[in-house]
Amino acid sequence: MTIPDLASLHARGAAQQPSYADRDALDAAVARLRTSPPLVFAGECDALTDQLAAVTRGEAFLLQGGDCAETFDGVTADNVRNKLRVLLQMAVVLTYAASVPVVKVGRIAGQYAKPRSSDTETRVVDGAEVTLPAYRGDAVNGFPFTAEAREPDPQRLVDVYNNSAATLNLVRAFVTGGYADLRQVHTWNTDFVRDSPAGQRYEQIAGEIDRALTFMQAIGADPSELQTTQVHSSHEALVLEYEHAMTRIDSRTSDPYDVSGHFVWIGERTRQLDGAHVELLRHIRNPIGVKLGPTTSADDALALAQRLNPDNVPGRLTFITRFGAGRIRDGLPALVEKVTAEGVQVAWVCDPMHGNTFEASSGYKTRRLDDVIEEVQGFFDVHRALGTWPGGIHVELTGDDVTECVGGGEELAEIDLHNRYESVCDPRLNRVQSLELAFLVAGMLRR
Ligand code: PEP
Ligand code: MN
Repeated sequence: MTIPDLASLHARGAAQQPSYADRDALDAAVARLRTSPPLVFAGECDALTDQLAAVTRGEAFLLQGGDCAETFDGVTADNVRNKLRVLLQMAVVLTYAASVPVVKVGRIAGQYAKPRSSDTETRVVDGAEVTLPAYRGDAVNGFPFTAEAREPDPQRLVDVYNNSAATLNLVRAFVTGGYADLRQVHTWNTDFVRDSPAGQRYEQIAGEIDRALTFMQAIGADPSELQTTQVHSSHEALVLEYEHAMTRIDSRTSDPYDVSGHFVWIGERTRQLDGAHVELLRHIRNPIGVKLGPTTSADDALALAQRLNPDNVPGRLTFITRFGAGRIRDGLPALVEKVTAEGVQVAWVCDPMHGNTFEASSGYKTRRLDDVIEEVQGFFDVHRALGTWPGGIHVELTGDDVTECVGGGEELAEIDLHNRYESVCDPRLNRVQSLELAFLVAGMLRR
């Protein structure tokens, strides 16, 4: 398969793209990216497709999570380790408590570009209304509310590449260098988490795993699966210049792969059937996802599956539904029923975040953990009733003790949000809330 050229993609009226003023700088950035080494290998993408095929068949569960928007400042050893740690802890809970293999995918090492509901943002500065371009993620412009920061800068695309490389290098080192060894299961449960009820429940599981490992050691069994694991990278494929420059023909198979991440997805705002994003991702061989919001009809979903996965390859396509807690029970069944009846191979994954965002009275964008849980429960109930497999969750979380979502065992309230609100985009579950969610989902999986 050949790769459509960038101009033809833009000719489709690509949604959610930055408007770059300096075309020469843009060309230079794209040229630099085109010659940069791949961040991931095609063979790794194929291996993930195989794992997602197991999810599609109902034999594994996908845990996909990370920041709404990564930032360049967030590329530190502590931050990356903390995110990895919460993913590993959640995966242990899901695997141990539900006895299901868990496929781990981070919203990490490339999640730098954001679609926005408005091109501009207006704030009152020194008593006067000021309107500037909206922040579109560190891939595009800066977060500070100044004209200079908000101007889209093509050099940032190269910075995305470099920061993704640094992050992925660290993730790979942590995972293969002993940090993800199951014998470390206790050490992942540190500091503030241990004192929470979820942390204590985790400690109990960790103790049981420890005993099982000691037993295995005693009988001389030491399988390599205990020492290492796999964590794949993923992000929304949004800025065409970046994703296109990172799309390469694999010498092994002669097929194009987007080597900027293992898994890429198309957002709710860019999934137009004839749009640029569907057109580009239709041509790559990576496993891909599409976000489906509450307005998606069953025919839309079928048309997307037909366009993006015409050979109906299991593992190639994941539908990430994000209906909102109040709409999933009514909206999801028709979609799942029709897609299933047509024999379409797809992994169904629940994003319980993006349909449940609201503005707190204090002005912070937030989500209630109860709504998140209610949407996941609705997702499980719908799939259980239809006899289909609830294949996974897609969540916005961080490994830190932030105060961005309300509720949970710590009873975070709207008045607490200002304490540690660090997201530059959507509110994330903190570490304790993430662990609580993992226990609840494990309970749903067990049934
Ligand atoms: C996101 O995942 O951060 C996002 C913008 O989601 P959606 O496309 O579902 O709105
Ligand atoms: Mn988000």
